[in-house]
Amino acid sequence: MTKIRKFNLNEQEMPTQWYNIQADMPNKIQPLLHPGTKQPIQPGDLEALFPRALIDQEMSADRNIDIPEEVQELYKIYRPTPVHRAHNLERILDTPAKIYFKNESVSPPGSHKPNTAIPQAYYNYKQGIKKITTETGAGQWGSALSFATSFFGIQCKVFMVKVSYEQKPYRKSMMQLWNGSVIASPSMETNAGRDILAEDPDSPGSLGIAISEAIEVAATHEDTMYSLGSVLNHVMLHQTIIGLEAEKQMEMAGDFPDLVIGPFGGGSNFGGLSFPFLRYNLTRGNKTRCIAVEAASCPKLTKGKFEYDFGDSAGMTPLIPMYTLGHKFIPPSIHAGGLRYHGAGAIVSQLLQDGLIEARAVAQHESFSAAVTFARAEGLIPAPETAHAIAQVIREARIAREEGIAKTILFNFSGHGLLDMAAYDEHFRDVQSKEAAMHLSGSLLTNLVTPRV
Ligand SMILES: *Cc1c(COP(=O)(O)O)cnc(C)c1O
Repeated sequence: MTKIRKFNLNEQEMPTQWYNIQADMPNKIQPLLHPGTKQPIQPGDLEALFPRALIDQEMSADRNIDIPEEVQELYKIYRPTPVHRAHNLERILDTPAKIYFKNESVSPPGSHKPNTAIPQAYYNYKQGIKKITTETGAGQWGSALSFATSFFGIQCKVFMVKVSYEQKPYRKSMMQLWNGSVIASPSMETNAGRDILAEDPDSPGSLGIAISEAIEVAATHEDTMYSLGSVLNHVMLHQTIIGLEAEKQMEMAGDFPDLVIGPFGGGSNFGGLSFPFLRYNLTRGNKTRCIAVEAASCPKLTKGKFEYDFGDSAGMTPLIPMYTLGHKFIPPSIHAGGLRYHGAGAIVSQLLQDGLIEARAVAQHESFSAAVTFARAEGLIPAPETAHAIAQVIREARIAREEGIAKTILFNFSGHGLLDMAAYDEHFRDVQSKEAAMHLSGSLLTNLVTPRV
């Protein structure tokens, strides 16, 4: 029997609207507060940082929002993206669960992030903006925004968390290739950066610090706007293209997910995949479980508090109602740079508070072991962030085996790890205790002698 492994849409079937879950949430999110006055912010307060179209989307209660044609055209460079059925992984795990994944790694920068970088660049361009600043952790967002702005003749200036700047030189090259300029953060270019360096000249940096630097440059330059790659409502909105496509693809597969799983940094790829499914929980009484998977070393969802906090370390952003570890929290330098953020988006935070989504934490070692299992089964090499979701998928597949239940799991393959091989190297060095080495050669042998189809 031939197994179907991929579910592809053609370009004409790509969704033409994004889905705004704010329309269907039982409890609406609390308003953002002005960092100075602590009063609810007005749209005008954000105009120094964001184009008006994005501010409108940030506050919109409309359920469906049109994707501009120019954005659709650029999406088609890599969209629609395929949904794969992970038959080999199912077999290796000996699970009755059916495992599907949405493959967002096929975009040119290698992750889901261009899904919002493209519309953000577009709306800035429409408003005549010529320069954008941003921050990046692992370099995924900086490369996505450099890629997107290059189509619109906008200059992109990226503050890159210093530890990643040093660990991931090829991400930097990628940004430069697409005309981005890259600065290690904390830097001497801003007050926020200089303050941190005065206290700790060896600061590894954090996303919170890099955001402060990027915002400071945008706020103090008339012609410069700021762009954020996660957390904000309009980012979640743009990312719903992932789940809207996946919904059609699951229909092609004749399945509907019982579990939707995504890695969690600020919530954009998790929200992007899960919200279109979650809406049927909210509107039709479905019971799909949506699980956000964070890094155990940066556990805002599982160990943080739900309260107003700043999005950056210097306290320049509006106060956001969110799960947070505190805006001064500097996470350890794990390989999954995209998960090193102290907070979570307001929408996902409210949904978690209301018990409508779930959260789990995965430690680095478990995540890499899961990534290696996945790569040996399916061939694709996951980004360290993506590996966290895969670890949770493997946990759920084992539970399904114990319970003997054939549940359907859909997860987001948010990015590939082809520029993260140094992290894999380090993982292999870690597991080279004798026992681990024996286990490794054992499984290699199994892979060689077992037919793989
Ligand atoms: C940035 C990133 C994440 C985490 O960010 P979210 O906004 O939570 O999606 C996950 N996976 C990859 C590959 C990333 O680049």
